[in-house]
Amino acid sequence: MSAAPADKRLRLRLTAAAESIVRGGHPWVYSDSILAANRPGQLGDLAIIYDRKDKFLAIGWFDPDSPLRVRILHTGKPQPIDHAWWQSRLDQTLQRREGLFGPDTTGYRLIHGESDGWPGLVLDRYGSTLVLKLYTAAWLPTLDETVRRILTRVPAERLVLRLSRNIQELARTRFQRQDGQILHGTDPGGPVVFEENGVRFEAEVLRGQKTGFFLDQRENRREVGQLAKGRRVLNAFSFSGGFSLYAARGGATEVTDVDISAHALDSARRNFALNQQTANVTACRHELVQADAFEWLASGRSQFDVVILDPPALAKRAADRPAALHGYERLCRLGLERLAPGGILVAASCSAQVGAADFFEAVRRAARFNGREFTELKTLLHPPDHPAGFQEAEYLKMIYLRF
Ligand code: SAH
Repeated sequence: MSAAPADKRLRLRLTAAAESIVRGGHPWVYSDSILAANRPGQLGDLAIIYDRKDKFLAIGWFDPDSPLRVRILHTGKPQPIDHAWWQSRLDQTLQRREGLFGPDTTGYRLIHGESDGWPGLVLDRYGSTLVLKLYTAAWLPTLDETVRRILTRVPAERLVLRLSRNIQELARTRFQRQDGQILHGTDPGGPVVFEENGVRFEAEVLRGQKTGFFLDQRENRREVGQLAKGRRVLNAFSFSGGFSLYAARGGATEVTDVDISAHALDSARRNFALNQQTANVTACRHELVQADAFEWLASGRSQFDVVILDPPALAKRAADRPAALHGYERLCRLGLERLAPGGILVAASCSAQVGAADFFEAVRRAARFNGREFTELKTLLHPPDHPAGFQEAEYLKMIYLRF
């Protein structure tokens, strides 16, 4: 795959600490862990890492512009990273999803970055549309090969390229690639429709957050659907109404979506319209409120039987952690003010910087605050199509408390 002849291969040596981290299976090497290189590395080079005894340790993508300088592709015995190697990695990744979803689920993650062995690359399927999202520019020099390989194994009507913000300029200037570019098939011109457990949703694949939908909350949406019957449901930070549709289908009498984005609420409205063939959805009263959820919770009075809190990541960096934990606790306290007796609080965090134990404890602190009795029903972490193979990849956690 690398164009460089073997003797020109980029060879690196790491600090002892970084060496043992890589040996332990961690996929990231930071720039300050690199002790020596035989030549300056270039974007997309396959960097070979040798250990202190001069033995092969690992091979990975090199990115000279990122503090995350090498993303490991392989450790163990040396192997050529060629077409056959990639094909076999792709097959293994796809096999991991086999049997996970029935025919009424056509939206799910096929490749989940580092934890699937594809550092900085995500591939989502929404019906016959594939969305390939890159979080590192190291994939750009050989992108055509990657796309061709994927389409051979996963036939699709179209493939949309999405780029994380920090690589968009470089992608445009050096590789003529744009966020939202169609790499295969036709431009859908707008959102595409897919199904999740029989519920129809639109995904804004061309410019929506992530790849257009929050596929990672599928299992929690199903849980919410199962506890919604006859209840009034509040979906704070609703985005396009994912939890709301499941609640409505599950028999909720009313669902209130609160989001700061009018755009997200428009999508929630369209998602309800897409499911009008389902009697429970038609019967459910659907309210849409454009507001800051913190302010809205603090200022209103109406009560709900299920309160869902799924805010964006409150901690972006490690330094934000204490403030984020405080924010989650405050949010839950506000949510609990709106929870009717016998109600259920469903609280999520998607901050990788906040550990599950700390988050759950912050929610429990909020729950204990005003002395109400509660039972912890369950906690959920990552769904199987979003595996978390190392600590920094563990971002998703949800806790269910009944009062
Ligand atoms: N629960 C959703 C995903 C939520 S993403 C799902 O399962 O699909 C977070 C959402 O919070 C985004 O839609 C964003 O617009 C919204 N948001 C961000 N800050 C907010 C705020 N202060 N008040 C209300 N909504 C906010």
